[in-house]
Amino acid sequence: MSQIHQPNACLLCGAPLVYLREERPLTCALCGRTFSGSAHCENGHFVCDDCHGKESRAAIVSACLDEPSADPIRIAQRLMDLPPIHMHGPEHHTLVGAALLTAYHNAGGTVDLAPALAELERRSQKVPGGICGFWGCCGAAVSAGIFASIATGTTPLSADSFGLCDQLTGSCLQAIGRIGGPRCCKRDSFLAISTAVPFVSAHLGVDMELPDLIRCHWSRENGECIGRRCPFHP
Ligand SMILES: [Zn+2]
Ligand SMILES: [Zn+2]
Repeated sequence: MSQIHQPNACLLCGAPLVYLREERPLTCALCGRTFSGSAHCENGHFVCDDCHGKESRAAIVSACLDEPSADPIRIAQRLMDLPPIHMHGPEHHTLVGAALLTAYHNAGGTVDLAPALAELERRSQKVPGGICGFWGCCGAAVSAGIFASIATGTTPLSADSFGLCDQLTGSCLQAIGRIGGPRCCKRDSFLAISTAVPFVSAHLGVDMELPDLIRCHWSRENGECIGRRCPFHP
């Protein structure tokens, strides 16, 4: 059962957010730096994107280090239920790869999990929100590619594994693209992970688990849910 997410609530005090018609300088209540921002809570709290993402990414990494599962969909669903994870947002660019790295490790894949998750966190925080629509390259697919790169130790000079990583990202994008939009970070995460599991089994010989049925329990929180067009709609 999912927790009640409050996408429009202050991270610090839970008060509703106030949206401004024009951006203005706001000082982050967590790090004290000032940014141009367009929302604060009714009590005046503003949290910058950097701090916002940091909390989500830290929650993801810490939960993964305690995960015994080899099923990356189940891991992803548990991560999605963590309070700092929103309905949509670039934290999913960390979440997908983290669920895959953790399940890969727990299924016997050769990876040192803690430093691998730290590296994934560093790389994935460079993947901006909205790139599914703005770049034509969904960040859930990129996150699967980052997972493959870390699991195989790939660099731009690698030979075989270079191809594998790009093929995995491409396969995830194909699956995501076939469904169409509007974007849904939950749907695209499930599509990327369920594409990655058989790919990794075939190419890296590590058998992660997949549930027989993937059901989304976030649809009521998603104003743009595509309903029955989504393969995971309950
Ligand atoms: Zn507040
Ligand atoms: Zn901040």
